[in-house]
Amino acid sequence: MTAKNKHKYKALLLDLDGTLLTLDIEQFIPAYIDALSRRFKELVNKDLFVRHLFGATNKMVANDDPDQKNENVFYQEFCGRTGLIYDQIKPIIDNFYRDDFPKLSCWGQEHPHARELIKTARQKDMQLVLATNPIFPATAVHQRLAWGGLDKDDFHLITAMDNMHFCKPNPRYYLEISSKIDCPPEECLMAGNDTQEDLIAAKAGMDTYLVEDHILNRTDGETKSNHRGKLEDLIGLIKTLEH
Ligand SMILES: [Mg+2]
Repeated sequence: MTAKNKHKYKALLLDLDGTLLTLDIEQFIPAYIDALSRRFKELVNKDLFVRHLFGATNKMVANDDPDQKNENVFYQEFCGRTGLIYDQIKPIIDNFYRDDFPKLSCWGQEHPHARELIKTARQKDMQLVLATNPIFPATAVHQRLAWGGLDKDDFHLITAMDNMHFCKPNPRYYLEISSKIDCPPEECLMAGNDTQEDLIAAKAGMDTYLVEDHILNRTDGETKSNHRGKLEDLIGLIKTLEH
């Protein structure tokens, strides 16, 4: 590490799935959709439910209105599509996350270096942000963190659908984080395994670290990041930062 990188990063933004948490996404997503659709089986048939769930999620991901929280966009679209009302479906979703979601933990595994990374960043007095795509309610994020053997209280900010107004890969998602933690983008390092959703943080002026343990390349194009390596190597990089 060259001297010019001293003091550079004051905040470390970390993706969750495939970065801090080893998650078999190919198995997890269908199991998740299956379990959620079962909760709605009296109200909507499964094919329609899945179509509307994806439709509402896509609408939320595309949202660019800073006055609309992600969850508002999602529920407005989902209710509009299904004809169901929010007060009717909210308890169903709450029960799903309380009783069914924990059973999906079988698809997640602790990453052997995640805890050491968090500890190292804390020792360096860095602000820690769990920068997971905020398309899930907070409880779903907290539970996945726990599957990874991590403590939510170690993070200064955890992004979820109820506290954010943009989603990855919108660069405004990263700018909103920068503003919330009061740290300029140039002093933030975003680390994640997704060449599109995570590395787009560069467009917001942040430096990026491509975590290669479970790389997800949606673009198949050339990937550009300031740093790349295993999660374990990121620990090494953080250790070289002086504070
Ligand atoms: Mg990821």
